Amino acid sequence: MVVDVSRYMTRILDINLDEGWVWVEPGVILDELNRYLQPHGVFFAPETSTSNRCAIGGMVGNNSCGSHSLIYDSTREHTLAIRALLRDGSDVEFAEMEHQAFIEKTICNTLENSIYRNLNNMLSNSKNRSEIREQFPKPDITRRNNGYALHALLDMQPFGGERPFNLCPLIAGSERTLVFITAVKLRVVPLPPSSTAVMCIHLNSIEEALHANLIVLQHSPTAVELMDRVILNQTRDNLLQQRNRFFVQGNPGAILIVEFADHDAKNIHQRADRLEQDMKASGFGYHFPLITGTDVGKVWALRKAGLGVLSNMKGDAKPVSVVEDTAILPEDLPAYMQSNDGLY
Ligand SMILES: Cc1cc2nc3c(=O)[nH]c(=O)nc-3n(C[C@H](O)[C@H](O)[C@H](O)COP(=O)(O)OP(=O)(O)OC[C@H]3O[C@@H](n4cnc5c(N)ncnc54)[C@H](O)[C@@H]3O)c2cc1C
Repeated sequence: MVVDVSRYMTRILDINLDEGWVWVEPGVILDELNRYLQPHGVFFAPETSTSNRCAIGGMVGNNSCGSHSLIYDSTREHTLAIRALLRDGSDVEFAEMEHQAFIEKTICNTLENSIYRNLNNMLSNSKNRSEIREQFPKPDITRRNNGYALHALLDMQPFGGERPFNLCPLIAGSERTLVFITAVKLRVVPLPPSSTAVMCIHLNSIEEALHANLIVLQHSPTAVELMDRVILNQTRDNLLQQRNRFFVQGNPGAILIVEFADHDAKNIHQRADRLEQDMKASGFGYHFPLITGTDVGKVWALRKAGLGVLSNMKGDAKPVSVVEDTAILPEDLPAYMQSNDGLY
């Protein structure tokens, strides 16, 4: 059965600003949802570069997130409840529940009951819990998205954790293999600070950028992105991108784009100064322009153009996507890149 949710399931169903949530159907487009929420002073925080066309059902399916995941995490952390159809057509709601309610869900013989029962049997077994903890990637990697997020259930009440049980974290990222979502209750959060600025740290190599990044992260940026020399060189001859290169000086091996957001623009300048001093003290970087106002958009436009300009490289040799969206702990990134010969 093929369901076109983007055409037929596009309603915003309910909103409660006091409790900070909105119920939507899975076909609601991210940008449209945020346009609706904006006058209320809130937004749905996880983002994607496909925000003008991606639907909330797809975002839950993929556990989407974007460049601000440093502060806003992924869709999983913002999915409070899900209404869904199971494979026998039964209509169920998954949401937070107290321990007693969880136990009651494991009794009786509906498909929903058997899901709770099977999970309870599997995760009550301490050997299974240890196996999941050992085999899953490091918990410090917040953007890991490997298979089913069983690890996310382990810190819930039935299994010795603090949080009430909720199956939504498991459904997020399950790519339509578990249930068909008919509605989602999403957390909404206050709009981000109005002032943003980006510092574009010019470095001699990618290797240097990866080490410098560890210092950058201590300064609570809202986003950090990297552009390397290969991408930057491709934008040189690109008429559209030439005007967005206004901040590039010399021929950097890599540029770290570091975004700061604050309600007070003065604080941003102070934070940027502190970062620049730290960089210089550690011997990283040779140029530290702080871009503000409408010019910030030009920097992001240059970064976004990366994929496009790469595929337009002159000659027969073209970059090919092999592995995308690899998630590595920033501390491990320099060694990881070094172990992949020739990536620097
Ligand atoms: C150029 C490009 C850039 C991208 N950038 C990002 C990015 O920055 N961040 C990011 O996280 N991802 C990114 N993606 C991946 C993807 O496009 C996004 O994750 C996006 O949120 C998916 O939304 P969609 O509406 O296109 O979902 P779809 O591709 O339609 O669906 C995604 C998954 O969710 C499932 N699903 C959809 N609706 C339901 C439903 N009702 N019930 C159950 N399951 C459902 C689908 O079966 C599928 O498995 C990018 C992709 C491309 C091509």
